[in-house]
Amino acid sequence: MPRSAVRILLVEDTLDVGEAICRRFQQTGHMVDWETDGAVASDIMSFTEYDLVILDVMLPGLDGFSILRRLRQSKNGVPVLVLTARSEVDDRVSALDLGADDYLVKPFDFRELEARARVLLRRRSGGESTNVIVCGDVSLDRTNRSVTVGKREVQLKRREMTLLEILATRPGKVFSKEELLDQLFGFDEAAGPNAIELYVGRLRKKLEGAKARIVTLRGVGYQLVSDDDA
Ligand code: CA
Repeated sequence: MPRSAVRILLVEDTLDVGEAICRRFQQTGHMVDWETDGAVASDIMSFTEYDLVILDVMLPGLDGFSILRRLRQSKNGVPVLVLTARSEVDDRVSALDLGADDYLVKPFDFRELEARARVLLRRRSGGESTNVIVCGDVSLDRTNRSVTVGKREVQLKRREMTLLEILATRPGKVFSKEELLDQLFGFDEAAGPNAIELYVGRLRKKLEGAKARIVTLRGVGYQLVSDDDA
């Protein structure tokens, strides 16, 4: 898929956080408009079209929830990712109720932010009309973060879910441990290849009996294989 210029609106009044987010997305070739005032941001959104809005909650001018409410009332369906502080746990629920597509709790890892943004942008571009990934009889619903094997619902922890998501997005592709480490952990986390083995082991156990399995290719990596393709 050619990388066309993606336009992101970032609404964040904490300067170092805003700068860091801008830099990360600009490095990947995205255009980022950054606003620190909620009221100004809300106005801009009424006449500028964005592919993604990254929205802080506590803002001068107008808070993130009011911005979100206004946006949805005006039938603007732009994907919104809300950034919320750990002390505002209830905010996550409100954010989703108000029509946010996803949220991240601060402080977050930038890779996590990028991964979430990628998912929302992909959904927006219509590259994936559905948000359910299926491999064999394993089905992963990205919207409500649930996994089923056949009719059985499987409880996965956050990283197990992410690992499955990575593997299931491209069944048959071999992912090296380094690739998986990169996507599962941040810079500041001291995780080695053993951590990947650990998570693969756990995930494998939870997928026992499924018509899809994680295959280990010694010294190379891992792949998710559906029995339907065997
Ligand atoms: Ca703030």
